[in-house]
Amino acid sequence: MLIRTITTLRNIMEAIHIPRLTQCPEQTQKIEFKTLLKDLKTLTPVQGWLKVAHRGNFLEVSAHAETIVTLTCHRCLQQFNHRLEIEPSELIWLDETADQLDELPLDQDLSMDDLVETLPPHGYFDPESWLYEQLSLEIPQRQLCQQDCAGIEVADEVKNPGIDQRWASLQSLKGKLN
Ligand SMILES: [Zn+2]
Repeated sequence: MLIRTITTLRNIMEAIHIPRLTQCPEQTQKIEFKTLLKDLKTLTPVQGWLKVAHRGNFLEVSAHAETIVTLTCHRCLQQFNHRLEIEPSELIWLDETADQLDELPLDQDLSMDDLVETLPPHGYFDPESWLYEQLSLEIPQRQLCQQDCAGIEVADEVKNPGIDQRWASLQSLKGKLN
């Protein structure tokens, strides 16, 4: 099983030329992948599928992906493995001005529509960076090895230092004086 994983491991996440999607059956391209992402350190390859459908003035992107990432517990600083499984979907608007966001006229009120993802209709969709974003969003903000992690274990001597042996004789002398 492991050997198979390694032999099929390859980078097939090439950027998709958006106009070419219209020539695909149902204007849809589906990619199956088992790959390592450039910017995301994962213990196992990211595995799953991704579908991009051309819907005229927008792309409909959906995917299923899973992998295992190694995180560091915020409480005890131990590393632990965390399984990420995502099934995101997103609409990406195709807009000629997608490349020129800086040139938006200033007197134009920005609406929610301006905040959604856009791409130029003759440009490329990059499945790898899209997937990277989706997986990154899914990495928990609060990273705990387990819900009730007790934090860094404090040794007993530190918690309760007791009496330094060097003071023991003074302590007994004090007892005699009393
Ligand atoms: Zn912990």
